Amino acid sequence: MKRVNDKKIALVTGANKGIGFAIAQGLGAIGFTVAVGARDVVRRDEAVERLHAADVDAFGVTVDVTSDDSVAAAAATIERTAGRLDVLVNNAGIAGRTDRGAQDPTTLDLDVVRTVLETNVFGVVRVTNAMLPLLRRADSPRIVNMSSNMGSLTLQTGPILAAYAPSKSMLNSVTAQYARRLADTNVIVNAACPGYVATDFTGFNAPRTPEQGAAIAIRLATLPDDGPRGGFFDDEGVVPW
Ligand code: NDP
Repeated sequence: MKRVNDKKIALVTGANKGIGFAIAQGLGAIGFTVAVGARDVVRRDEAVERLHAADVDAFGVTVDVTSDDSVAAAAATIERTAGRLDVLVNNAGIAGRTDRGAQDPTTLDLDVVRTVLETNVFGVVRVTNAMLPLLRRADSPRIVNMSSNMGSLTLQTGPILAAYAPSKSMLNSVTAQYARRLADTNVIVNAACPGYVATDFTGFNAPRTPEQGAAIAIRLATLPDDGPRGGFFDDEGVVPW
């Protein structure tokens, strides 16, 4: 049996359900040890159990991406358990409240904007910066930020959601900043769009399965060393910014 350090280690945030769970399962199926990031301990442990039942080498890591302390503790857990990190998938995300015109730009609730940015953007920065020291210890580190084509200023798809869509536009921009900063390192950073996927997020009312949504993240998590950097991709290829 391989020791944990011989296998690649991936952390997926928001891995207890939906696309994040499918990413964890998919990475596990190709031989990764998966750190299952979830903010709730019960949901985290249930997901780890389901992954073990599917023969995935997984362990739970409590991580609330909105909390400095939680993210620091998660990095310490991964350091203790694995000593390094090969892949980080920043998948955790929220849509934000939409009642009473909360995401109509003309009646926009700025508290909703703050809440959505805290998870979808600041959470990614918080987790990435806490994990970078561990990622730098890997031979071919990869970071995948789960974005959305709703954040594409070119496409402007989906309903008007003036907190959620701009949060993904900013996430794309932050992804490009990281890629520039890390251009002369082996850390490859990209953004992914999963398509329109049936999860809690969409009320399970969407055409794609979580496994289909996970595929692009898994591809970007396993790019070769000469793979693309600082891009935005879905199953079809490049998504326009
Ligand atoms: P789900 O709502 O099914 O899952 C979201 C996950 O994020 C859950 O595990 C949730 O945990 C977790 N999460 C939310 N807030 C936090 C937090 N503060 N700390 C840690 N984890 C948190 O959504 P999807 O699987 O559909 O979405 C995953 C990603 O894909 C999101 O970033 C979303 O924006 C993106 N996306 C989804 C699309 C779709 O069609 N579904 C389309 C485009 C992009 P908990 O269970 O505790 O709430």
